[in-house]
Amino acid sequence: MVTQLSATQLSAQLAAKKISAREVTEAYLERISAHDAVYGAFLRTEDRALIAADEAQKKIDAGEAGPLTGIPVAVKDNISTEGLETTCASQILRGYIPPYDATVISQLKASGAVILGKTNLDEFAMGASTETSSYKLTRNPWDPARTPGGSSGGSAAAVAGELAPIALGSDTGGSIRQPASLCGIVGMKPTYGRSSRYGLVAFGSSLDQIGPLARNVEDAALLAHATTGHDPLDGTSLPIAPIDISGLKSGSLKGKKIAIPTEMFGDGINPGVRDVVEAAIDRLRAEGAEATEVSLPSIKFGVTTYYIIAPCEASSNLARFDGIRYGPRAEGGQGHIGVVEKTRGELFGHEVKTRIMIGTYALSAGYYDAFYLRAQQVRAIMQQEFLKTFDEFDFVVSPTSPVTAFKFGELDDNPLAMKLLDYCTIPANMGGFPAISLNCGYHENLPVGLQLMAAPLRDEELLQTAWITEQVLADLQQRPPIS
Ligand code: GLN
Repeated sequence: MVTQLSATQLSAQLAAKKISAREVTEAYLERISAHDAVYGAFLRTEDRALIAADEAQKKIDAGEAGPLTGIPVAVKDNISTEGLETTCASQILRGYIPPYDATVISQLKASGAVILGKTNLDEFAMGASTETSSYKLTRNPWDPARTPGGSSGGSAAAVAGELAPIALGSDTGGSIRQPASLCGIVGMKPTYGRSSRYGLVAFGSSLDQIGPLARNVEDAALLAHATTGHDPLDGTSLPIAPIDISGLKSGSLKGKKIAIPTEMFGDGINPGVRDVVEAAIDRLRAEGAEATEVSLPSIKFGVTTYYIIAPCEASSNLARFDGIRYGPRAEGGQGHIGVVEKTRGELFGHEVKTRIMIGTYALSAGYYDAFYLRAQQVRAIMQQEFLKTFDEFDFVVSPTSPVTAFKFGELDDNPLAMKLLDYCTIPANMGGFPAISLNCGYHENLPVGLQLMAAPLRDEELLQTAWITEQVLADLQQRPPIS
């Protein structure tokens, strides 16, 4: 079946003219219309997808195709797409149609990829289960009674459920890697500044990064390569070349030094998850990697620090949604302040309002030093601790998520537990370094993710090592029980 093929396999079939670009996109659109009523991965599909597929075919026929030409890509709905509604899963952006493409979308279109549709997420990417979407629930292809994780849950479920070969997500505190882990696929957050944030609706600007979700490392690498590189439209974009994947398959685990932080294997990590991750690390050892336990005490402060910095940045970034500039306006507000208050009060969801209030409070006069400044100091310590570790070690390895996929509503009464899910993923955002999650086995028939982190700008080595790791663990891989 076409939809079971990886992007790399599809690309080979397209080049060999065994299938047309239109047939590939049609196969996915048909599968979405047949099955997405159950998964809820997509908020909408792109009406122009088949036109783009035909354009891609012309490139293929003219011998101008690249590896993503004719490959459908699902896009998280906080990434701006010209002419295609972009809501961030919020009512406050219902009906908003961006007049421009995010840079990553322009890059994809230039490479001949086909934008398939927009995927569900936690409202404004705030959450870890996709349950805070104001539109719908997204189900985990491994068990429809469970969440796909979040916030890029729609992208992860689409890729795992074979409703898209590859997808883009965004990661502020783990939102690509955690849903990838819970859905048994690959998800990567590049080094901060390697993928352009231009056109990504900002959440925590110093943390946000767009990255790939895919069914294997090679596909993730193709998408990472296509969506990175310097962008003058993003002031934090690094003036360096796209992630180079020409040496993807040439790495080795021999002599690779791996740090195992004890703080990511202790309290709060489900013992079943820990056992699966430790077994995977043992297999890396058997291939010649040298794994050593280390202590990185700042990890324990990551969640507390993140939940000051991210809401502070969000409270500032989300100030622009006032019912005047974008999206709908609530009825009946009196005067400017009245209109803004009523619109924001009615159209932002509970989680978003909570974060805005926490951020505004933490930034207010008299509290700034005690919260925001303090959090930035802890962030700097954490950064230094990791950088020092990367002087000595090639990679830091951990579980991606402390738990496997959980049931809908399971954490409704425990917002703290929901936040602790980001425990292992937050450091990479705080330090701006690259990290990737790949499947390393199953606990109670649910996927477990292995996270590899590397020093800033070592995205290439990270992908190489993830690729070998994937080969080493290949015998463990299963397909979800999907139709
Ligand atoms: N779960 C985290 C949060 O709710 C991370 C979100 C993200 O990376 N976008 O903030």
